[in-house]
Amino acid sequence: PVSVGGISRDVLLSLYPVTATKIYMNLGQPDIIHKYLDLPFDGIGLMRIEFIVSEWIKYHPLYLIKTGKPELFVDKLAEGISMVASAIYPRPVVVRFSDFKTNEYKRLIGGEEFEPEERNPMIGWRGVSRYVSPQYEPAFRLEVRAIRKVREEMGLKNVWVMFPFVRTTWELEKAIKIMEEEGVRRGQDFKVWIMAEVPSVVVLADKFSQLVDGFSIGSNDLAQLTLGVDRDSDLLARMGYYDERDPAVLESIKRLIKVAHKYGRTVSICGQAPSVYPEINEFLVRQGIDSISVNPDAVIQVKRQVASIEQKIMLEKLRKK
Ligand code: PEP
Ligand code: MG
Repeated sequence: PVSVGGISRDVLLSLYPVTATKIYMNLGQPDIIHKYLDLPFDGIGLMRIEFIVSEWIKYHPLYLIKTGKPELFVDKLAEGISMVASAIYPRPVVVRFSDFKTNEYKRLIGGEEFEPEERNPMIGWRGVSRYVSPQYEPAFRLEVRAIRKVREEMGLKNVWVMFPFVRTTWELEKAIKIMEEEGVRRGQDFKVWIMAEVPSVVVLADKFSQLVDGFSIGSNDLAQLTLGVDRDSDLLARMGYYDERDPAVLESIKRLIKVAHKYGRTVSICGQAPSVYPEINEFLVRQGIDSISVNPDAVIQVKRQVASIEQKIMLEKLRKK
């Protein structure tokens, strides 16, 4: 066992309180996972792959396909994911399929040719709308092949997936079908989540619940789209409009948890809110959220905070009896 200052990691981790709500961690850069192994997290609730693509692979996936090097994409992506999955095995790693916007894809080597000019990339060709489009679909298949490689060839069954920026049930059904064609399908040990970022997912939570195992609230985008506020607008942010704690956002979260639980689906949250506004965690725990995924520097604090919130709720229940 690895030891830190003479204390084994297991002993160190046992010093943290136990929580019923799982505390997950958000991660983008695979190799830094080793810096965080002493933190009390139950898994990676959001593994962004954009870092691997832009810093390790550097090429646009469609360019690699065109030049006959698709395996470079699959192998590098699988390497990054497996680095994290093996380091924290058997805890789950929820890998989010790519969610670059067109302006970001364009910056990858060879990207110019494949990316249209969009006036509003933030609400444009991103997330699932890419995977089901004839242009990007072959690249989405490479992402899925990387998942299959890690799960089947490397045997890391703790890798799950998450679809970002889901807007409609039909596109999601189509994307899941493509994934299945590549030999990756939902099962006991393979959970498929979607991000709740577009308000349509909350409005039709009952329909989406029938297609997936769980939801993860992307409060950054959910706030942007619920409030109609560009999350990159400094002006609106300064005026106080961009606020993930807005009652309209909280009401959406409350509704999503209620409906998802009715169908036996789990709900997590992986936006910035729980890391930077810890005061919303009491609300989340009271609504019965299953897990909270935070930035590495917030793990310890949120773990302790959630433990004390849960204790408080338990005491309240006892007193009422
Ligand atoms: C979110 O929208 O809350 C989220 C986690 O995704 P990103 O910040 O990558 O858009
Ligand atoms: Mg988002």
